[in-house]
Amino acid sequence: MLASMPVIADAHDLVGGEVLIADVCIAGAGAAGITIARDLVGSGLRVIMLESGGLERDEETQALYQGPHTGLPLQPLDFCRLRYFGGSTNHWSGICRRIEPEVFADRPGVAEGWPIDPNVLAPYYRLAHATCGIGANEFEAAPIAERAGASLWPLDPTRVDQVVYQLSAPVRFGEAYRQELSDADNVTIYLHGNVTQVTLTEAGGRVQAFACATLRGTRFEVQADHYVLALGGIENPRVLLASTEQERAGVGNAHDLVGRYFMEHPHVYAGAAIIAHRAVDASFYLHGAAVDVVDGDDQAPVPTRVIPAIAPSAVVRARESLIALACTIGASNPRALSELTDTFRPDQIGSLLRAGTEDLAVFMLTVRTEQRPLRESRVTLTAERDALGMPRARVDWRVADEDRADLRRGFEILGAEIARARVGRLWMAVDGNGRYPTDGITGGCHHMGTTRMSDDPERGVVDAHCRVHGLENLFVAGSSVFPSAGFANPTLTIVALAHRLAAHLRQRVKG
Ligand SMILES: Cc1cc2nc3c(=O)[nH]c(=O)nc-3n(C[C@H](O)[C@H](O)[C@H](O)COP(=O)(O)OP(=O)(O)OC[C@H]3O[C@@H](n4cnc5c(N)ncnc54)[C@H](O)[C@@H]3O)c2cc1C
Repeated sequence: MLASMPVIADAHDLVGGEVLIADVCIAGAGAAGITIARDLVGSGLRVIMLESGGLERDEETQALYQGPHTGLPLQPLDFCRLRYFGGSTNHWSGICRRIEPEVFADRPGVAEGWPIDPNVLAPYYRLAHATCGIGANEFEAAPIAERAGASLWPLDPTRVDQVVYQLSAPVRFGEAYRQELSDADNVTIYLHGNVTQVTLTEAGGRVQAFACATLRGTRFEVQADHYVLALGGIENPRVLLASTEQERAGVGNAHDLVGRYFMEHPHVYAGAAIIAHRAVDASFYLHGAAVDVVDGDDQAPVPTRVIPAIAPSAVVRARESLIALACTIGASNPRALSELTDTFRPDQIGSLLRAGTEDLAVFMLTVRTEQRPLRESRVTLTAERDALGMPRARVDWRVADEDRADLRRGFEILGAEIARARVGRLWMAVDGNGRYPTDGITGGCHHMGTTRMSDDPERGVVDAHCRVHGLENLFVAGSSVFPSAGFANPTLTIVALAHRLAAHLRQRVKG
């Protein structure tokens, strides 16, 4: 171990040409990178962390994220990510949920499974709960509603799953963990240090260095035994694809997979609503609850805010080969009723529910779904370069027609059950061909799948330990490794995988 290293350094202070030496080099100080660095504190390993930004947002660095996008509408690439210490957790909403266990298995007609059993991930999820500041592994709505004294709609559990998301404060990783990393004597963070190229050894099979640059034109490199790219779901493939000095197609891209299978969680905010009698108790669905979240063997209950969601049940999803989707339920909107008259007139709905229109409430649904991984949905590079001389990323986001059909089918299942349970009627937007939704799909700033995980190098970029196939010492952290997504927001799983990768690195180094 180095005798004494400055713990938060600034790459702007380097003169240029330096070769910095470490045991582990982590590029990117977002949710994934910070989690790995924290787990290596006290390990005796010299860790260098490279972060593109400083401790605050600055526009010049943020502009490195600009790039075009085509296909379905995403939030602009330099808006939906933040490029400074803490990464996009500087503005995440903190919605957390484990990926549904079924998603890890092969689902014919939907997606290939993960090469990891969910039970293997369970202990790391447990760590991730603490890192993200949420309660234990409890995501079913029924016991939580009971403890909160709230009432659930009587939906048939064989048809509809009633679940919860847990809400992190939200933990801003940069602020929350900066002191701990600053206090560590084996971790040095270089702010304003950008990885621009992954350089391989002459013989190949190993990374020799991360080539780095600052926006002031200083160039240096980091040499380490192990390297981790933790740059987010678009920048991980961008840096690999841009590393063409030795491999023309980019590093890790022997099978033309880097950047492919880009996935988002398609979100639809205004395409469906529940029309109910005003007397229907929707308060738990609208406001959630603050409860002590527990699981059987956990020590202390953790007070956590939850919000519920309804979803076609796992049983139905498996039987009908449907993608996973879930809906949260938004506040009653008095104006919405008159706006939904394309399908039903308010008086027709009123007579269905035996109510006058003034007695009706309209709850807008927000839908979050997964998508089938598609090879042609992808991140590529443009000819235009950024201020560091790196080609910019272009994202072309596609979803399959079957995903749209599944969205409609999901609503039919939910709507039938909502009507059967006498909660109300479900309204959804359809186009002239009966397709749902006609428009209004947008992304959730969840960028996944672009360095997907598989045991087979012809089907995935990284293996089950997130190591790039064909390279002994290069690892990828973040949602780019997800081979399929489920409907849960990604960060809890990103953090669980990061804890697992840190444990793996410690073990590898030990011997
Ligand atoms: C508005 C918004 C709301 C969200 N809400 C939720 C939510 O409720 N729940 C949820 O689960 N997720 C949410 N997310 C997504 C969440 O923010 C991400 O999943 C998470 O931050 C990803 O972590 P990461 O470490 O992989 O990447 P990031 O957090 O993006 O970190 C990547 C880091 O790498 C650095 N970097 C980039 N390029 C380089 C380079 N070349 N060299 C060196 N460093 C570099 C960046 O500066 C950054 O610090 C939200 C995102 C947005 C934008």
